[in-house]
Amino acid sequence: MKDIVVSGIRSTGNLHLGNYFGAVANFIKMQHQHPCFFFVADYHSLTTHPNPVDLLANERQVIIEYLACGLDPEICTLYLQSDIPQTAELYLFLNMLAYLGELERVTTFKDKARKHPDNINAGLLTYPTLMAADVLIHKGAKVPVGKDQEQHLEMMRTFGNRFNRLYNVDYFPEPQAFNFGTELVKVPGLDGSGKMGKSEGEGNALFLCDDDKTIRKKIMRAVTDSGPTQLNQPKPDAIKNIFALMNLVSAKDTVNYFDEQYNNMTIRYGDLKKQLAEDMVLFINPLAQKISDLKQNDDYVTKVIAMGKEKAAASANKTITEVRKIIGFK
Ligand code: ADP
Repeated sequence: MKDIVVSGIRSTGNLHLGNYFGAVANFIKMQHQHPCFFFVADYHSLTTHPNPVDLLANERQVIIEYLACGLDPEICTLYLQSDIPQTAELYLFLNMLAYLGELERVTTFKDKARKHPDNINAGLLTYPTLMAADVLIHKGAKVPVGKDQEQHLEMMRTFGNRFNRLYNVDYFPEPQAFNFGTELVKVPGLDGSGKMGKSEGEGNALFLCDDDKTIRKKIMRAVTDSGPTQLNQPKPDAIKNIFALMNLVSAKDTVNYFDEQYNNMTIRYGDLKKQLAEDMVLFINPLAQKISDLKQNDDYVTKVIAMGKEKAAASANKTITEVRKIIGFK
């Protein structure tokens, strides 16, 4: 039997280029090769307490963006996490196997706790257990994610293995992070540091629904420095980031051309950014168009969500029934 693939993206905002290259680009390929479950992580979005109107709008927006990118709801299972409460039940069971110390050591938890000291809720602490439940509820073995999720994947394996050992079964597989390339992807932001992310601040992320003008504006404002002062000088992070983005959307020749200019110190960052902006527009514009078209088609989106719920529930019911039996519930 082929490995089951499971992955999701939080519905806390629109999809950005990091979500695309870290996750969705792999979803698109994998849907033709494996049984796939892709969800909108709306339970996960509750850690920041969205209001009900925003919650609903964001769920539908992410479904629309998945569709615009090329996920086919007839081939893969595309669903809302909250439509499958079986995940919440498995989350409860896995939480009994998760230790406070190991949850507190998770890097993303420490980061969030530092940034939002006023809202360190238990949902944030147990984020990795909910992620493990998301994947294990379908007995997922492959998880297409970006590099930032490596530690969460390790915890999924820990919890699944602990369950297997405690009940002396060989039930849950060991989920592995997956990328079609040789390594997991990290798309940098435009602010000169770290990764592109929804919550990293204004101007850091390029969204798949951004219009051409917004894309150009954000890229022209991207952080750079005063330029190389020696031949073949190593690139500082901000410049590396611009080249990394260019590598994703521009032709190899274009990247090489600017690389050479950097190395021989003739580079003009204005030209570099202008080129990146034009290539980015060519990449994002067709996606943004599709997103805008799908937004006009409410009935279709509702149908897709209902279809996904039915398929995901069948798989989740099977797992939770077996898990309850293993635990001893009758
Ligand atoms: P965000 O970080 O934007 O809130 P999520 O945490 O919901 O997004 O992550 C959804 C998926 O997108 C995960 O697989 C994650 O690894 C991937 N992802 C998010 N940001 C990036 C990035 N900058 N580079 C690569 N992958 C990313």
